[in-house]
Amino acid sequence: MTGVKTVLVVEDELKISRLMRDYLEGAGFAVIEASDGQAAISLVRSQRPDMIVLDLGLPGMDGLDVTRRIRETSSVPIIMVTARVEETDRIVGLELGADDYLTKPFSPKELVARVRAVLRRADSTLGGGELIRAGEVTLDIPKRRVTVRGEAVELTATEFDLLLTLARHPGRIYTRAQLLDGVHGVSFESYERSVDAHIKNIRRKIERDPRNPELVLTVYGVGYRFTDA
Ligand code: CA
Repeated sequence: MTGVKTVLVVEDELKISRLMRDYLEGAGFAVIEASDGQAAISLVRSQRPDMIVLDLGLPGMDGLDVTRRIRETSSVPIIMVTARVEETDRIVGLELGADDYLTKPFSPKELVARVRAVLRRADSTLGGGELIRAGEVTLDIPKRRVTVRGEAVELTATEFDLLLTLARHPGRIYTRAQLLDGVHGVSFESYERSVDAHIKNIRRKIERDPRNPELVLTVYGVGYRFTDA
């Protein structure tokens, strides 16, 4: 994947949308803009952007509805832009399949860094083999084996599925509910806090220091992500 990447900016406040366009163009991206959800959805279809920066607070169809509609047909990476007060919406957005979020106000540097990180992640997960290497961890999917720093590690089926979900998309934030979705056969224990217990076990097995995890990281108030360092 080479060449100039196109970013669709969806924002109803013209001033903010212009600023975002300037920052992103300055960083070498091509930018197209939409000021409402309907326009965004048709641009996704007609222009096939490489990623979307989507404001949550839009007139009419809000950012969550737009995400839901886009995900029916496309897995294009989406960064949601939220205000600080929209914390619940942010979690719902991630559950609907947004890849990351930015909280207003953000700096130009932060915007560009997030866009680059999400694009890099999207590129690296294309194709996807039977082996996943993420940092010091290797997952052999058909054999359901995990190696950490060259040493085999025994994980339960649930722990393996959780780790696999996280490590498939390093850096991507998962809510507890999304992690449960990634795990088979949890109906008898499918309440979100059980995820914390499994994560604790995974950390004990794969982290150098489980109290200061470097691989499976906590995102406070949201859930977990696998390191993309
Ligand atoms: Ca707005």
